Amino acid sequence: MITDVVIAGGGPNGLMLACELSLAGARPVVLERLIEPSEEPKANGLLGQVVKMLDHRGLHERLSGSPQPPQPNSRYFMFGAMGLDLSLLQDSPVYALPVPQRRIVQVLQERAIELGVEIRRGHEVVGLSQDDDAVTIDVASPGEAYQLRARYLIGADGAHSTTRKLSGIKFPGITYDRMTVRSAHATVPAGWVDPATGALNVPGYGAVMPFMPHRTERGGFSYAPMPGHPPLVSTTEWDQPTTDAPMSLEELRASIRRVLGVDVPLGPPDGQGPHALRRLTGGNTRVAERFADGRVFLIGDAAHVYAATGGGPGLNLGLQDAVNLGWKLAAEIRGSAPSGLLNSYETERRSAAQRMVLNAQAQAALIAPGSDVTGLREVFTELLRDPDTVQRLAELTAGADVRYDMGGRETHPLTGRFAPDMDLHTPTGPVRLAELTRTARPLLVDLTEEASLAESLALRHDQVDIVTARSQTPAPTALLLRPDCYVAWASASPRPDPMEIETLQAALQQWFGI
Ligand SMILES: Cc1cc2nc3c(=O)[nH]c(=O)nc-3n(C[C@H](O)[C@H](O)[C@H](O)COP(=O)(O)OP(=O)(O)OC[C@H]3O[C@@H](n4cnc5c(N)ncnc54)[C@H](O)[C@@H]3O)c2cc1C
Repeated sequence: MITDVVIAGGGPNGLMLACELSLAGARPVVLERLIEPSEEPKANGLLGQVVKMLDHRGLHERLSGSPQPPQPNSRYFMFGAMGLDLSLLQDSPVYALPVPQRRIVQVLQERAIELGVEIRRGHEVVGLSQDDDAVTIDVASPGEAYQLRARYLIGADGAHSTTRKLSGIKFPGITYDRMTVRSAHATVPAGWVDPATGALNVPGYGAVMPFMPHRTERGGFSYAPMPGHPPLVSTTEWDQPTTDAPMSLEELRASIRRVLGVDVPLGPPDGQGPHALRRLTGGNTRVAERFADGRVFLIGDAAHVYAATGGGPGLNLGLQDAVNLGWKLAAEIRGSAPSGLLNSYETERRSAAQRMVLNAQAQAALIAPGSDVTGLREVFTELLRDPDTVQRLAELTAGADVRYDMGGRETHPLTGRFAPDMDLHTPTGPVRLAELTRTARPLLVDLTEEASLAESLALRHDQVDIVTARSQTPAPTALLLRPDCYVAWASASPRPDPMEIETLQAALQQWFGI
């Protein structure tokens, strides 16, 4: 028997892909080598466009615990430990969802199980070979070792991906071996926290705003009070002596003294753990030379990793890899994928990953020690008074400047971009656009005067979800969304002309083979 898809790795990205494949009608099996989800503290939250994407799948509410749609941060953010004044922007692209990775994995696993995904814990991919029809996967398990045949294997098995290595895909990039990052959940003197701003007022140094890294010529310092958790305190230094000694709060305190020049008396964290207490030396920014090899595909950290300075791009990219690949692979399995659809996964997601390399490298350069970097930062500080510069850097950090090639039909500014949320009035009542995309199907939103786009193209509801509506927002008047919520076609005309209808027809053919 040949399984549709085997996913190596039940981390956040593997589980997200499993959900997406199931929504699109494929039957994935997830093989996860750990018996229980990892307790290792990793991501403290999600940043950027992924937050909106999760709302478009109904997962934002589960993760935030609130029915409120995501709201952008319109105040202040950071690029290379320099302030980005988001209040200068009309439309801030910076969204944040402070949820620990453990909880993200838990929510995605629950969702995958609801959708009928089979998750085999304690099962590890240890070998693979491919022929014309399938991938044969060697699996080590608590019982007997066994083999599985699958039409596709997805490596969602993290930065040290066995799948990538077995497929012979190289992982070139940059290693920052001079950098040491120390982090710990800890208590800080209660009287130092400003109740109005949440800033940490460090005597002899000044106010350190929460979640806003500080750079000095000797290193970096940050203070991140996660809701419901003890604050995460971190430093970054260069050229530290190597040591095998276990990390301690005292070591972090000494590091803070070197970086800020004053003492911050850290205490052990309150509450239930697990708590972070780590020293990471070096960091990698790498992108796999290929995201696919025959029937094997890579997503998430298996395909790209970023040194910690990139503003947390890991899950912003990885979860969107999963959403990009899911519907395309499911269409290939159903036999309905138009030519080139599956190849577009690599083209689209590789360019998004490369953009984050740029982001990580630029930020790493701006936080490096030395007076020359201080000079560079002064020039940047002047540039950051310009709203256009702030917009560009905010979009880069949020991954919101991704624009896919939609076959040269980018006549509307939204084409190729992630769909904005819109309040719509449909014949059955008011709805947000983000609520119409939860089934992960192609969607045509028709706001034109005659609401007859579907009719004029003889489109059927089993091919594309069709919603006619009215909106207070002036533009666009019609949108075709791919299941990953990117705009494949859009119009601003109240009555699209025959040329526009022709381009809509071409978009339907290119993405859905209709
Ligand atoms: C300290 C730290 C802080 C971070 N903070 C942030 C942040 O704030 N925001 C953010 O977006 N990102 C952050 N990241 C990055 C983020 O954690 C990763 O991008 C994310 O974990 C990648 O998810 P993944 O599913 O691709 O891989 P992983 O989370 O690594 O999951 C891979 C899974 O595959 C399993 N596996 C491995 N090999 C096999 C095999 N051969 N067979 C079967 N299963 C296998 C593993 O057990 C694991 O469960 C942080 C990372 C670290 C280390």
